[in-house]
Amino acid sequence: MTSMVQRVLLAEPRGFCAGVEMAIKALTWMVRIFEPPVYCYHEIVHNEWVVKAFERVGVVFVDDISEVPEGAPVMLSAHGSAPEVVSGAEARAGVVIDAVCPLVTKVHHEVKRMAAKGYDIIYVGHQGHDEAVGTVAEAPHAITLVEPEWGLDGFRPADPDRVALVAQTTLGMHEWAQVLEEAQRRYPNLQTARRSDLCYATTNRQEAVAQLAGQCDVILVVGSENSSNTQALVRYSREHGTPAYRIDSAADIDPAWLEGAEVVGLTAGASAPDHLVQGVIDRIDPAQGFELWRVTEEGEYFPLPPQLRAFVTTLGALVEAGVTAKPPAEPGWLDRDREWTATEALASIAT
Ligand code: SF4
Repeated sequence: MTSMVQRVLLAEPRGFCAGVEMAIKALTWMVRIFEPPVYCYHEIVHNEWVVKAFERVGVVFVDDISEVPEGAPVMLSAHGSAPEVVSGAEARAGVVIDAVCPLVTKVHHEVKRMAAKGYDIIYVGHQGHDEAVGTVAEAPHAITLVEPEWGLDGFRPADPDRVALVAQTTLGMHEWAQVLEEAQRRYPNLQTARRSDLCYATTNRQEAVAQLAGQCDVILVVGSENSSNTQALVRYSREHGTPAYRIDSAADIDPAWLEGAEVVGLTAGASAPDHLVQGVIDRIDPAQGFELWRVTEEGEYFPLPPQLRAFVTTLGALVEAGVTAKPPAEPGWLDRDREWTATEALASIAT
């Protein structure tokens, strides 16, 4: 691509978060342990490339648990599932592994806790998003979903002194803060998380975009259409006055976006593989190359789901005893899970 772009500023952190790392590695184990097809309820993470990579090795993604044949292995996605989906899966599938991110589980627990105490709960989130659907289903009688731009006019609590506010983990910080402010004004005794339910990955990636917005002529965000945190990054950049565009990969770049741009900011949503980001740099081919723009270090790590760890341990013991010749993915297995990355996992299923 011929452009005037001099430099690309590459956000750090960007791309895979600890929840996505765990979920991708967990599904990789599923396709190694079980004969295909392996079923997955909802897209394991909201990224087109990742979903297609798993489909190629025999994963079937379903949006209704009744599509899973009796006795088949099934994984539940990182976004968290409704209690009736979990019990439905347990009733029909042979093996159920829940790859829900622990930070989503935390919000589910909070909803159950506040509903049990008789609170009316404001859930700030995006209607129809997998995470929102799963969380609201924990206490549908007690919870009201509020899109950030709606405000609270449609919310009518039984007791204004018993109101709680929880949020989808991937919202834009400004959008969530506006609803929180309004709720605190209306309900002085509002109960809410000490910091917020927005996860560390969401806030770190947004913080990087906020800083990049002041340095760049345009920002490109790699991630899929249905990825909530990706869309939040695009909106966040625009709120800071810098044009921003979401792309699935380099092929989606419209050269018109880069006309007159000297410095381009580049980041990726929490479910976007990094080779797609590298592809964008290659396509832009900035005259002076790229520089990292680091706002913080991320060291979070989430272990594989407990049910899956038991399978992996058993399989490891069988291989060691020579009972099965099924080759391990990597030597060391569970012990080495912390070092084994989702990028390596995806590369291993692609070969
Ligand atoms: S974006 Fe946050 S809540 Fe979602 S999977 Fe990643 S760490 Fe978990």
